[in-house]
Amino acid sequence: MTGETPFDRRLKVPVTNLQKKVFSREKVSVSLDARVGDEGVVYLGEHGDLRLEAWMESSPDGIRVKGRIEGSISVHCTRCLEEYRHRLDLAVDEFYRRPGLGAVGPEGRRLRETEVLEDDDYVIHEGAVDLNLLVNDNVMTRLPIKRLCDEACRGLCPRCGKNLNQGDCRCVVEETDPRLEVLRDLLEEEGRE
Ligand SMILES: [Zn+2]
Ligand SMILES: [Zn+2]
Repeated sequence: MTGETPFDRRLKVPVTNLQKKVFSREKVSVSLDARVGDEGVVYLGEHGDLRLEAWMESSPDGIRVKGRIEGSISVHCTRCLEEYRHRLDLAVDEFYRRPGLGAVGPEGRRLRETEVLEDDDYVIHEGAVDLNLLVNDNVMTRLPIKRLCDEACRGLCPRCGKNLNQGDCRCVVEETDPRLEVLRDLLEEEGRE
């Protein structure tokens, strides 16, 4: 992988010892500072308040990682585009299978080679589980589409682009919508009858 940072590496947790003893458990606990970029989670440093705490448990077929991602992550407000800290509290539960094994279906049935999803990256690689994958998948798929710095965020002026949370702009905002005008006319007519 190109451009791998120390933090990417930090989330690659060795599981060779764990694999030697089936049903043994080991706790993993990492703190990170992170933000959401266009391509996914980007790590900013080690001392953030985004915490991943999970138990890794070995089974004959691989390693189950079950725990929580909790804390805050920087995201852009969808209304005013400013960055803010978004609170997260996600239960996570993923299974990293042993390389060479077919993926396991929901009923525990071994999937045939052709049924294995191409994007199934949850495989133990070089004796480690890559928790970047788990963090990225869970954060990116479970963040709300509408992310607001504040429920009352006023957003940007559609005309001049000024952030209205920082004060009004000089644009005259036309409040009337032609469809509302029609409705108003109808209501007025009704009132007259
Ligand atoms: Zn905002
Ligand atoms: Zn304006």
